[in-house]
Amino acid sequence: MDLSYSRKHRELQSEVRAFVREKGHLSPKFGGGRKRPNRQELDWQGLLLERGYIARSVPRKYGGFGAEPDILETAIVADELSKAGVSPGLLNQGVLIVAPTMLELGTEAQRERWVAPTLRGETIWCIGNSEPEAGSDMANARTRAVVEGDTFVINGQKIWTSSAHYADMMLLLCRTEPDAPKHKGLSYLLVPMDADGIEVRPLVTMTERAEFNETFLSDVRVPTDQIVMGRGDGWKVAIASLKHERVMLGDPNKQLQRFHAIRKLMQGVTIDDRPAIEMPEFRDRLVRLQAEVMAAKFHHMRLLTLHDRGEDAGVAGLVQKLYGTVLNHKLSALAVDVLGEGGLAYDPHEISEDDPATTWQIDYMYDIGLIIGGGTSQIQKNIISERGLGMPREPKVQLSEKRA
Ligand SMILES: Cc1cc2nc3c(=O)[nH]c(=O)nc-3n(C[C@H](O)[C@H](O)[C@H](O)COP(=O)(O)OP(=O)(O)OC[C@H]3O[C@@H](n4cnc5c(N)ncnc54)[C@H](O)[C@@H]3O)c2cc1C
Repeated sequence: MDLSYSRKHRELQSEVRAFVREKGHLSPKFGGGRKRPNRQELDWQGLLLERGYIARSVPRKYGGFGAEPDILETAIVADELSKAGVSPGLLNQGVLIVAPTMLELGTEAQRERWVAPTLRGETIWCIGNSEPEAGSDMANARTRAVVEGDTFVINGQKIWTSSAHYADMMLLLCRTEPDAPKHKGLSYLLVPMDADGIEVRPLVTMTERAEFNETFLSDVRVPTDQIVMGRGDGWKVAIASLKHERVMLGDPNKQLQRFHAIRKLMQGVTIDDRPAIEMPEFRDRLVRLQAEVMAAKFHHMRLLTLHDRGEDAGVAGLVQKLYGTVLNHKLSALAVDVLGEGGLAYDPHEISEDDPATTWQIDYMYDIGLIIGGGTSQIQKNIISERGLGMPREPKVQLSEKRA
């Protein structure tokens, strides 16, 4: 991996710095992945798309910038935006999971219809994988879809569906081939959330806010061409979309942005008349975390290199999810500790984006959820040890034994 900057890369770095100086004041505070984007977030997203600071190598006809893939360019943009403390754009499931999955596996008609509005943040997606009896064991999904004429008729229940209460569309995992073996009987359908027969009931997380939902589907109809790949190909789509989800959840640019924000926080907060950054116990934690963030960043660049070469990253992508989500939690824990009692005071009704005490506490609580979401740490460790390290497979437990 050659990390030195060529002239082209230095020019891009200057260009992003000039953009941040000129337009940085228009940036919203956050990535905006947990609510429907507001006007400011949509406008910022539009600016980043126009300059190629997101979706840089996505073809123009699908709403991207159309540049050749170049990992250093991607890294330079991410670095400059995070150092400047401006938003890297929308960090929602549509932009980071559905659009890349569709670009990889969707039909031309699906890409043309959905990718550009998704990247612009106009079409919001949720993902319906988990069910009460199918979480870690996602392939156990029981939601059924049967073909009647030119529509699928869907019945079943999803759970933990983030954003379903404001999403326009759902990427839904369901069973279309009930007689096929477990992993071969699944399909992914594109379901409009305003279709008749969908009921969304909010669930409250540890942040004390309703951020995910139970989603009930009763005789919901979608056209048969709203399937990703073919009938029974759902597991292939699941593998592709989970790969993008794990990269999203462990994204080191988020950790880098947090690191910069915490350093700034520690320069501003005083304890016994001294800035927190001068206190050895906090300073020590900060420096250790900085080393972890840099390790995560270089691991991510390795993944991008493999991606650019068209090579499969294998379990290395899972390492990013496992390591990154835990690191995010350690970073928010440091901020909460630095804020002392203020870091614990949390009223979900009085969340202020200008008051770091409230937002760090939300991150601290929500991060625990992200260690679970997208496949728990235990599941990542199982897969890494079995497929990456060649350790013996986990013994299969009989259901009767499990329930005993
Ligand atoms: C904040 C958040 C957002 C989410 N958003 C979405 C979403 O948008 N869409 C969606 O479909 N789902 C979503 N989920 C659901 C998430 O994917 C599941 O919670 C996760 O896959 C675990 O499934 P489960 O909750 O059914 O737990 P279970 O699978 O019942 O697991 C319970 C516990 O047992 C452990 N366990 C299970 N099997 C094994 C094993 N073989 N070896 C070792 N340990 C094991 C798990 O690690 C866990 O600790 C979200 C979850 C969270 C927390």
